[in-house]
Amino acid sequence: MSKLAICPGSFDPITLGHLDIIQRGAKIFGHVEVTVFNNQSKAPLFSVEERIKLIEEATNDLPNVTVDSSDYLLMDYATEKKADAIIRGLRAVSDFEYELQLTSMNKKLNPEIETFYMMTNNQYSFLSSSIIKEAAKYNANVSDLVPGVVEKALKKKFNN
Ligand code: ADP
Repeated sequence: MSKLAICPGSFDPITLGHLDIIQRGAKIFGHVEVTVFNNQSKAPLFSVEERIKLIEEATNDLPNVTVDSSDYLLMDYATEKKADAIIRGLRAVSDFEYELQLTSMNKKLNPEIETFYMMTNNQYSFLSSSIIKEAAKYNANVSDLVPGVVEKALKKKFNN
Protein backbone atom coordinates (compact mmCIF):
# COMPACT_ATOMS: atom_id res chain seq x y z
CA MET A 1 0.00 0.00 0.00
CA SER A 2 1.20 3.49 -0.82
CA LYS A 3 2.61 5.28 2.23
CA LEU A 4 1.63 8.82 3.18
CA ALA A 5 4.23 11.15 4.66
CA ILE A 6 3.44 14.59 6.01
CA CYS A 7 6.10 17.25 5.58
CA PRO A 8 5.15 19.94 8.13
CA GLY A 9 6.51 23.45 8.52
CA SER A 10 5.87 27.17 8.40
CA PHE A 11 7.27 27.55 4.85
CA ASP A 12 7.29 31.36 5.14
CA PRO A 13 8.29 31.14 2.30
CA ILE A 14 9.37 27.79 0.83
CA THR A 15 13.11 27.68 0.01
CA LEU A 16 15.21 25.33 -2.13
CA GLY A 17 16.26 23.66 1.16
CA HIS A 18 12.62 22.72 1.84
CA LEU A 19 12.09 21.73 -1.79
CA ASP A 20 15.09 19.41 -1.66
CA ILE A 21 13.60 17.59 1.36
CA ILE A 22 10.18 17.37 -0.38
CA GLN A 23 11.70 16.01 -3.62
CA ARG A 24 13.77 13.39 -1.81
CA GLY A 25 10.76 12.38 0.33
CA ALA A 26 8.60 12.03 -2.79
CA LYS A 27 11.04 9.43 -4.17
CA ILE A 28 10.58 7.24 -1.09
CA PHE A 29 6.92 7.72 -0.13
CA GLY A 30 3.92 7.12 -2.37
CA HIS A 31 2.34 10.41 -1.33
CA VAL A 32 3.90 13.43 0.36
CA GLU A 33 1.61 16.08 1.76
CA VAL A 34 3.28 19.39 2.55
CA THR A 35 1.31 20.92 5.41
CA VAL A 36 1.56 24.58 6.29
CA PHE A 37 1.15 25.07 10.02
CA ASN A 38 0.26 28.54 11.15
CA ASN A 39 2.77 28.99 13.94
CA GLN A 40 1.21 31.72 16.10
CA SER A 41 4.52 32.56 17.76
CA LYS A 42 6.06 33.67 14.45
CA ALA A 43 4.74 36.80 12.69
CA PRO A 44 4.48 35.58 9.09
CA LEU A 45 5.38 37.57 5.99
CA PHE A 46 3.11 35.51 3.72
CA SER A 47 -0.47 34.47 4.55
CA VAL A 48 -1.22 30.74 4.73
CA GLU A 49 -3.03 31.00 1.35
CA GLU A 50 -0.01 32.70 -0.25
CA ARG A 51 2.35 30.09 1.20
CA ILE A 52 0.17 27.24 -0.11
CA LYS A 53 0.06 28.76 -3.58
CA LEU A 54 3.86 29.20 -3.68
CA ILE A 55 4.43 25.58 -2.57
CA GLU A 56 1.91 24.32 -5.16
CA GLU A 57 3.70 26.22 -7.91
CA ALA A 58 7.14 25.09 -6.75
CA THR A 59 6.08 21.41 -6.65
CA ASN A 60 3.82 21.25 -9.71
CA ASP A 61 6.22 18.83 -11.44
CA LEU A 62 5.87 16.32 -8.58
CA PRO A 63 2.65 14.33 -9.15
CA ASN A 64 2.65 12.63 -5.73
CA VAL A 65 3.02 15.87 -3.74
CA THR A 66 -0.03 17.76 -2.45
CA VAL A 67 -0.31 20.85 -0.25
CA ASP A 68 -2.66 21.63 2.63
CA SER A 69 -2.74 23.69 5.83
CA SER A 70 -3.76 23.02 9.41
CA ASP A 71 -4.34 24.78 12.70
CA TYR A 72 -4.35 21.50 14.64
CA LEU A 73 -1.53 19.98 16.59
CA LEU A 74 0.68 18.14 14.07
CA MET A 75 0.13 14.69 15.57
CA ASP A 76 -3.66 15.13 15.80
CA TYR A 77 -3.65 16.16 12.16
CA ALA A 78 -1.36 13.30 11.08
CA THR A 79 -3.43 10.76 13.02
CA GLU A 80 -6.66 11.98 11.45
CA LYS A 81 -5.07 11.80 7.99
CA LYS A 82 -3.85 8.26 8.75
CA ALA A 83 -0.30 9.31 7.85
CA ASP A 84 2.44 6.71 8.05
CA ALA A 85 5.29 9.12 8.64
CA ILE A 86 6.46 12.67 9.23
CA ILE A 87 9.45 13.92 7.26
CA ARG A 88 11.69 16.75 8.39
CA GLY A 89 15.04 18.20 7.40
CA LEU A 90 18.08 18.69 9.61
CA ARG A 91 20.53 21.47 8.94
CA ALA A 92 23.02 22.12 11.71
CA VAL A 93 23.61 20.73 15.18
CA SER A 94 21.43 23.59 16.39
CA ASP A 95 18.37 21.98 14.75
CA PHE A 96 19.05 18.70 16.51
CA GLU A 97 18.03 19.50 20.06
CA TYR A 98 14.74 21.07 19.07
CA GLU A 99 13.92 18.25 16.68
CA LEU A 100 14.76 15.63 19.32
CA GLN A 101 12.30 17.31 21.72
CA LEU A 102 9.67 17.58 19.04
CA THR A 103 10.00 13.98 17.94
CA SER A 104 10.01 12.65 21.50
CA MET A 105 6.74 14.48 22.18
CA ASN A 106 5.25 13.35 18.87
CA LYS A 107 6.21 9.74 19.55
CA LYS A 108 4.41 9.94 22.89
CA LEU A 109 1.29 11.35 21.23
CA ASN A 110 1.19 8.66 18.54
CA PRO A 111 3.86 5.92 18.65
CA GLU A 112 2.58 4.48 15.35
CA ILE A 113 3.76 7.45 13.27
CA GLU A 114 7.49 7.42 12.59
CA THR A 115 9.50 10.61 11.98
CA PHE A 116 12.17 10.48 9.28
CA TYR A 117 14.98 13.03 9.11
CA MET A 118 16.97 13.88 6.05
CA MET A 119 20.27 15.72 6.22
CA THR A 120 20.23 18.97 4.34
CA ASN A 121 21.90 19.17 0.99
CA ASN A 122 25.29 20.81 1.80
CA GLN A 123 24.59 23.81 -0.37
CA TYR A 124 21.50 24.65 1.75
CA SER A 125 22.88 23.97 5.21
CA PHE A 126 22.68 27.62 6.27
CA LEU A 127 19.48 28.40 4.44
CA SER A 128 16.32 29.35 6.33
CA SER A 129 13.15 31.26 5.50
CA SER A 130 14.18 33.98 8.00
CA ILE A 131 17.55 34.55 6.29
CA ILE A 132 15.79 34.77 2.93
CA LYS A 133 13.30 37.38 4.20
CA GLU A 134 16.10 39.44 5.72
CA ALA A 135 18.16 39.32 2.50
CA ALA A 136 15.18 40.02 0.21
CA LYS A 137 14.18 43.02 2.30
CA TYR A 138 17.48 44.62 1.30
CA ASN A 139 17.06 43.54 -2.30
CA ALA A 140 19.83 40.92 -2.18
CA ASN A 141 19.89 38.34 -4.97
CA VAL A 142 18.30 35.12 -3.63
CA SER A 143 17.67 33.49 -7.02
CA ASP A 144 19.80 30.41 -6.29
CA LEU A 145 18.17 29.83 -2.89
CA VAL A 146 14.42 29.97 -3.57
CA PRO A 147 12.10 28.80 -6.38
CA GLY A 148 11.51 31.42 -9.10
CA VAL A 149 7.90 32.02 -7.97
CA VAL A 150 9.13 32.85 -4.47
CA GLU A 151 11.76 35.26 -5.79
CA LYS A 152 9.00 37.12 -7.65
CA ALA A 153 6.67 37.10 -4.64
CA LEU A 154 9.41 38.50 -2.39
CA LYS A 155 10.14 41.31 -4.84
CA LYS A 156 6.44 42.17 -4.84
CA LYS A 157 6.19 42.08 -1.02
CA PHE A 158 9.16 44.38 -0.56
CA ASN A 159 8.41 46.56 -3.60
CA ASN A 160 11.80 45.77 -5.11
P1 ADP B 1 9.33 25.11 11.34
O1 ADP B 1 8.67 26.41 11.66
O2 ADP B 1 8.53 23.90 11.70
O3 ADP B 1 10.77 25.00 11.77
P2 ADP B 1 10.23 25.52 8.63
O4 ADP B 1 9.33 25.95 7.55
O5 ADP B 1 11.26 26.48 9.08
O6 ADP B 1 9.28 25.06 9.77
O7 ADP B 1 10.93 24.14 8.26
C1 ADP B 1 10.20 22.98 7.95
C2 ADP B 1 11.15 21.80 7.88
O8 ADP B 1 12.10 21.99 6.84
C3 ADP B 1 11.97 21.58 9.17
O9 ADP B 1 12.15 20.20 9.35
C4 ADP B 1 13.28 22.23 8.84
O10 ADP B 1 14.34 21.67 9.60
C5 ADP B 1 13.42 21.87 7.37
N1 ADP B 1 14.30 22.80 6.67
C6 ADP B 1 14.23 24.15 6.62
N2 ADP B 1 15.24 24.66 5.88
C7 ADP B 1 15.99 23.61 5.47
C8 ADP B 1 17.20 23.46 4.69
N3 ADP B 1 17.84 24.53 4.22
N4 ADP B 1 17.67 22.21 4.47
C9 ADP B 1 17.02 21.13 4.98
N5 ADP B 1 15.90 21.19 5.72
C10 ADP B 1 15.38 22.41 5.97
